[in-house]
Amino acid sequence: MTRLCPKCRTPSLHPLSADRAPSLEGALPPPSICEKCRGVWLPHEAIRDGLVPAALHVEDVATPVAADADERAGLCAAGHGIMRRARVDVGAHPLHLDRCGTCLGIWFDAGEWATIAASQWLRHLDDLWDPVFRKRLRDATARDHHLETLRQALGDATFDKVVTVAEALREHPMKSVALAYLLDETRTHAPE
Ligand SMILES: [Zn+2]
Ligand SMILES: [Zn+2]
Repeated sequence: MTRLCPKCRTPSLHPLSADRAPSLEGALPPPSICEKCRGVWLPHEAIRDGLVPAALHVEDVATPVAADADERAGLCAAGHGIMRRARVDVGAHPLHLDRCGTCLGIWFDAGEWATIAASQWLRHLDDLWDPVFRKRLRDATARDHHLETLRQALGDATFDKVVTVAEALREHPMKSVALAYLLDETRTHAPE
């Protein structure tokens, strides 16, 4: 059974494997590939249960990521309308995946599946659309950035010592005494 491609919007989306039970026809679309743009549709259970057709790995690995398709909004292959995009920072260039908010099926533009399958994102794809997870990720990135700025300002040797002191004091019940000492020792006194 051929369906509309979420991106091309033409009837060019074909099931990846022919051995689908006839009773499933008309239900949610099986793992499929578009013959025009080579994008890939995976229903939620295929991702959750790791039931991704082997054919996909062969198909997609050689396909370069299509940047123009990545920019376009996609429609759910099961007919649930506009999908929600999520940015994925993977490799040198970030890419965007589209997921249907109703059936949770995910659309991969050509080449994106291979990139994702080779990354740590494959095991928690759904987290990409979880605002709590996204915030934690942003916070961690901001913290890394902040520490790197600090390292560059202080130099490696001093930075490492400061980090050691911070770790020693973080849970210490008397840390206020130590902080007062540090402030006092490092204060520049105006000449009397
Ligand atoms: Zn297409
Ligand atoms: Zn859907």
